[in-house]
Amino acid sequence: MSVIVQKYGGTSVGSVERIEAVADKVISHCQRGEKVVVVVSAMSGETNRLIGLANEISDAPSAREMDVLVSTGEQVTIALLSMALQAKGQDARSYTGSQVRILTDTAHSKARIEEIDAHRMQQDLDAGRVVVVAGFQGVDEQGNITTLGRGGSDTTAVALAAALKADECQIYTDVDGVYTTDPRVVDSARRLTSITFEEMLEMASQGSKVLQIRSVEFAGKYNVPLRVLSSFQEGPGTLITLEDDGMEKPVVSGIAFNRDEAKLMIRGIPDQPGVAFKVLGPISAANIEVDVIVQNVAVDNSANITFTVHKNDVKKAEQILQQIAAELGAKEVATDSSIAKVSLVGVGMRSHAGVAAKMFESLANEAINIQLITTSEIKVTVVVDEKYLELAVRALHSAFEMDKEPQQEA
Ligand code: ADP
Ligand code: ASP
Ligand code: MG
Repeated sequence: MSVIVQKYGGTSVGSVERIEAVADKVISHCQRGEKVVVVVSAMSGETNRLIGLANEISDAPSAREMDVLVSTGEQVTIALLSMALQAKGQDARSYTGSQVRILTDTAHSKARIEEIDAHRMQQDLDAGRVVVVAGFQGVDEQGNITTLGRGGSDTTAVALAAALKADECQIYTDVDGVYTTDPRVVDSARRLTSITFEEMLEMASQGSKVLQIRSVEFAGKYNVPLRVLSSFQEGPGTLITLEDDGMEKPVVSGIAFNRDEAKLMIRGIPDQPGVAFKVLGPISAANIEVDVIVQNVAVDNSANITFTVHKNDVKKAEQILQQIAAELGAKEVATDSSIAKVSLVGVGMRSHAGVAAKMFESLANEAINIQLITTSEIKVTVVVDEKYLELAVRALHSAFEMDKEPQQEA
């Protein structure tokens, strides 16, 4: 008998009617003889609502209490879904993260899963029950509730699938698969039949929120067959796979983008060994993650360093940079929060030159100025003015003919 783990996101459980529709879908799988573990998110908007309440009470609520608060959204949906299943005659049991013992480290709001006890779930499955588990949450060794970061229910699902050695982990959402780019931005975006773990990881880390990055990492590491599908319509969805020779291999598989970063610049610092460390060391010591970094040297031999951080960290980073600027005698510190990052992703780039050049050409044709550039083996990223983001994504999507099925290579 096959075991599958299904995850339903916020929109898919956004109302009582939708929860009932999920119950019907789960039952149809049980009737095919599958054993089903279901992971659910909070009802759409609920996690944001809870965060909003906390922010009304405090500017800096305790991380521990925040996790106690935001984990409640998922406790509501596990109970409602289990009731819906029971009302339709299907035996089911709900569990919070701590009840199934999804053991995590203690990093509140971004905890990592360390261990899962599959024993209890296995017993329920063997007794013919559907197991309904709250996504996004776990418990640390001291019994504190932890959460796995926004979008973390995807990771719960993949981790449970790995622990149960499930035949497939199915992520049901409000789109019917992974597209060449966000279908909300580009109408002609095309659903991919499959995408490699490596590409999906880049897409997720460059801003495609369809899967949480950690869920993809986890699936790749434990070789969990992972599929993204629609909650609302039947279809094959998109399979996340290992790279293999028979796959469609376009040079560029997808375009990811991200509006969450801000740019900081420090101008007129000495061009000397150690200066990048003097600037970026204190930023990283303050636990601020730095993404794109560019250093350049002006004609007068002074250097400029530009880098991006998450918008939430920009104030803190700017304060640190002001101090460094004073110490180094820098000419200027500037910040810009109206930027966006656009990335082309594709394993085919390894064997094809010219992707970056073509990218720059199509942005130039739209008169979009490129502020920063960074590349890796399977990705080219540019930073542009936020107001041109959608134009840039559409122009690139059409320049790389991503709306068309790729030609199979001979
Ligand atoms: P859920 O609540 O089910 O977890 P999310 O909102 O987290 O759903 O993820 C689904 C959304 O991801 C889609 O509605 C879509 O707008 C967005 N998205 C971004 N990039 C892509 C992409 N490349 N393919 C499909 N969806 C994408
Ligand atoms: N409810 C959480 C969130 O909104 C987790 C999830 O939906 O995956 O981020
Ligand atoms: Mg999600």
